[in-house]
Amino acid sequence: MPLTIVLRVFWRTGNVRDHNSRGAAQGGMRLVAAETPRDGTRVAVRVPAKVNLFLAVRGVRADGYHELATVFQTISVFDDLCVALVAPPGRGHHPASRPHMRLELSHDEVQGVPAGDANLAVQAGRLLGESAHMIEPGIDSERVGPRTIIDLDKGIPVAGGMGGGSADAAATLVALNELWGTELSRDELRELGSRIGSDVPFLVVGGTAFATGRGTALAQVLCRGEFHWVVCPDSASLATADVFKAWDKTCEPSEVEPDAVLQALRSEDAEALGAALHNDLEPAAFALRPRLAERKERLLTAGALGVMVSGSGPTMLALASDHAHAVALAAEVREGGFVARSPAGGPEIVRR
Ligand code: ATP
Repeated sequence: MPLTIVLRVFWRTGNVRDHNSRGAAQGGMRLVAAETPRDGTRVAVRVPAKVNLFLAVRGVRADGYHELATVFQTISVFDDLCVALVAPPGRGHHPASRPHMRLELSHDEVQGVPAGDANLAVQAGRLLGESAHMIEPGIDSERVGPRTIIDLDKGIPVAGGMGGGSADAAATLVALNELWGTELSRDELRELGSRIGSDVPFLVVGGTAFATGRGTALAQVLCRGEFHWVVCPDSASLATADVFKAWDKTCEPSEVEPDAVLQALRSEDAEALGAALHNDLEPAAFALRPRLAERKERLLTAGALGVMVSGSGPTMLALASDHAHAVALAAEVREGGFVARSPAGGPEIVRR
């Protein structure tokens, strides 16, 4: 029997303003199921974006990846993902009743979110299905039988350096593990995630972590309290690969250490964190998009405790002393920013 993942895309309305409230209106786009499940078997997961409070590029490895040292933290900018199982009449949902399942994709590409196998959520679902022997790779069968439908509601800026595609992959692993009853541990899901992308293992768990290697070797980091940000997406995306290429051309491996960031997180010291924020990719992102450097200056002049490009950019993050300061800062600089807080936990199953 085939298993089909169906995604359809439309734009969500509403302005991105304040992500501190989970019910806040968010801009973005929504991938909506082509049909609703007949029996309501569904799992919804809310997954946060990531920021890199510290990112050092140590050099290029023999396998072509860059060697990184980074401090990841989740931030209250969310994608909402829902997976639902649709069975034709008379067919059961138990995995044993689906010996020859197939993962089939059908959705449109919208605003940089790819369709089909290029979508990281789909890649994650296929990987989980194949490793749990629920999907047989390469088996072509007629389009009947149980189908899994993914609804994706994007609140995380696309190609913004906040790990949105990776977050969707992580959310899909968590959601399908529950929906399909595959019973993999979070560690096993992290291992699967590392085959999809460098940010996925962190986003399967969330919180705050120090990562090395290509970003997949993780150690949990103590973070007391929470931090308040103004998140300023740029109007145009910046491809991660282009930023690393620019780093290759113009930058040298760095030996900066994350100690000051780790200490600031331990001591709940926003001022110290603002001074310690560090991103080796920032000069490369500024070289490709000079207006980002100007935006950073404006945010600092307006009183931000620290400002940096998020990951490979182009989203800019400005640290504030508290929520009220973040709201005032966002209003003053008029950079189209919204306020958010960190850390923001990990992927969370929100209803069944
Ligand atoms: P990175 O994690 O490489 O830093 P990013 O955070 O800058 O990436 P993403 O939102 O993850 O940006 O998008 C990067 C690219 O991944 C997009 O341009 C898009 O082609 C692709 N992509 C695949 N799946 C998704 C998805 N579910 N949502 C958004 N983008 C996706």
